[in-house]
Amino acid sequence: MTELFGLSLQDLQALCEAESMPKFTARQIANWLYDKRVDSIDAMTNLSLKQRARLKEICTLRHTYPADCQVSTDGTKKYIFDVGDRRLVETVFIPDGDRATLCVSCQVGCKMGCRFCVTGSQGFHGSLSAYDILNQIFAIPEFSRLTNIVYMGMGEPFDNYDAVMRSIEVLTSGWGLGWSPHRITVSTVGVVPGIERFLHDCDCHLAISLHNPIADERLSIMPMQKTYPIAKVVAMLKEYDWSGQRRLSFEYTMFGGLNDDLSHAESLVRLLKPLHCRVNLIRFHTSPDTPFHTSPRNTMQQFMDYLVNHGIRCTIRASRGEDIMAACGLLAGSVPERAER
Ligand code: SF4
Repeated sequence: MTELFGLSLQDLQALCEAESMPKFTARQIANWLYDKRVDSIDAMTNLSLKQRARLKEICTLRHTYPADCQVSTDGTKKYIFDVGDRRLVETVFIPDGDRATLCVSCQVGCKMGCRFCVTGSQGFHGSLSAYDILNQIFAIPEFSRLTNIVYMGMGEPFDNYDAVMRSIEVLTSGWGLGWSPHRITVSTVGVVPGIERFLHDCDCHLAISLHNPIADERLSIMPMQKTYPIAKVVAMLKEYDWSGQRRLSFEYTMFGGLNDDLSHAESLVRLLKPLHCRVNLIRFHTSPDTPFHTSPRNTMQQFMDYLVNHGIRCTIRASRGEDIMAACGLLAGSVPERAER
């Protein structure tokens, strides 16, 4: 059985052609799926009874609603979705004034093994389909309030490139949600072939998890530095024209005594200049069993001041959802325990 939700217009056209249905039926189905957001084939009332009966024989249409939701004192919500085989993923809804951002997961666990990340420490339990990614967006009660989507939850998006791009196609195409690509940001540890394809294939914003500008120090916390050194990643990004509306940002989680002194700020300036970009400094959230510490607020401020004074746009990210383990690097805190249920 084919899962209808998550199919692109092209997929739907191929399906209609195989079933000898008119080409325009594919557009009608896409409209029911992504604009009207129906959850049954019977509800597609401008399709003939015969077409609906045939679709029901070969396709399924469902949404998987969250299995759980935890609400932070600051209004952040962490939704938990069951993606089958007793595997769970987490999706974080972050309201902030006029903005409402959803942080989605693209894998169960992660292969990248960043030492500071709870998700990475849980190992890899599979990639999500486009259905699973889109379902996190469509199945939450706040769907119609969403202004931004960030692919910064569990997993490395460019290790699941096709499903991530399929989900982005649904979000940004006229036959889908019709969102501007500038409402979407995809974050990567720096998988160079994925970045190259992404820059070519869409116009969404890009975020790079940097965390340390010094090669051997970065390697000690991010194993992917060995395969894709940050200097090579940045050199490749400097070849791209960032003067348009597309944004490039670097995520820099600050660990006390590890990457937060001015020598790191100096190295960061040397690495990034003259790239047109922004650096987001992220306060590290302690979690059980981590050897990493939070950087003091005044240290973060001095670090930011140094970058700004040297021409690099920089912000300190507000901490959200820490009390429900929804903050950056804290997702999937107990996936194995849940998987054993
Ligand atoms: Fe994976 Fe991101 Fe965690 Fe690194 S920080 S292990 S890429 S989820």
